[in-house]
Amino acid sequence: MTELKTTMDIFKLLDKSNCQKCGEKTCLAFAAAVFQNRKNLSECPRLNGETISKVTFQTENRNVVDRNREEIFNKLKKEIQEADLEERARITGARYKNGKLTLKILGKDFSVDDQGDIFTQIHVNLWVAIPFFQYILRGRGVEPAGEWISFRELSEGMQRYNFFQKQCEEPLKRVADVYPDLFDDMIHVLGGKAVKEQFRSDISVVLHPLPKLPIMVCYWKPEQELESSIGIYFDRTANRNLDTGSIFSLSSGLAQMFKKFAGRHGHTNGF
Ligand code: SF4
Repeated sequence: MTELKTTMDIFKLLDKSNCQKCGEKTCLAFAAAVFQNRKNLSECPRLNGETISKVTFQTENRNVVDRNREEIFNKLKKEIQEADLEERARITGARYKNGKLTLKILGKDFSVDDQGDIFTQIHVNLWVAIPFFQYILRGRGVEPAGEWISFRELSEGMQRYNFFQKQCEEPLKRVADVYPDLFDDMIHVLGGKAVKEQFRSDISVVLHPLPKLPIMVCYWKPEQELESSIGIYFDRTANRNLDTGSIFSLSSGLAQMFKKFAGRHGHTNGF
C-alpha cells in the first residue's frame, strides 16, 4: 500500500494530460480536490482500479473532515436519545409508532428510535443522516410557501455558494448532459414530480429529500453557442426547517447518488 500524504503524492499518480474528464481544469486541480475530500480518485477515468486499490489516504485534511462529521453525528445521536420523539414527530409532520419516528426521504421510509438507531432500506451515510437528525431536532415544521430561491439566498448561502456550485450543481449538470434518464429517475425512482418549467428552463423537477424541504432542479438544454446549465432551488421557508450546512450536505449527497445511477448505466464519460 502507498500512503498519500500530500496533493503532490496524488498528482504523481495522474497521467498529467489535463483532459478535464474529471470535471477539473487540470490534473493538479483534481489532485487538490481529492486532497480536500471534494473528489474521489475513481473520478479520474484514466486511473485504473489497480492503482486506486493500492493507495491509502493519511492526509490530515481527510481525517479531520471525517472525524468532524462523525463527532457531529454522535453529538446529534445523543440529543435524539434525550428528545421527546413523539413531540418532534408532531412538530415536523413525521409519524410516531412503537417508539419510532418515521418520515419519508425521497419517497422511502426513514426511521429512528429513542436510542438514535436508524432503520431504512436506503443506503445510510453521514451526508444524509446528519441532515435527518437536524431536521427532527430543530425543524419547525413550517409548510413550504411555494416560492423558490437560490442557494445564495439562504442564510450564509452567499459565502458558501462557490463550494455549492462545485460540489452540487456542476456534478449534476455533467450527469444531466450525458445521462438521458436522469429526470425520469428523479420522478420514478425517487418520487419526484415534474412541474411547470420554472425560470424558462427546459425541465423542472421537484424532489423531497425531507418532507417539508422540497428541492427543485431546473435544466436548460444546450442551445447553439450556449452550454447547458442546471440550477438547484429551495423553498423560501427552507432555513426554518433545516440549517444551510445540512441543506448543502443533502444536495451534495443527491449529486453523488445521481453520479452512481449514471455510472451503473455506463454513462460515465465526462465526469
Ligand atoms: S481526468 Fe484524470 S487525467 Fe484528465 S484532467 Fe482529470 S485527473 Fe487529469
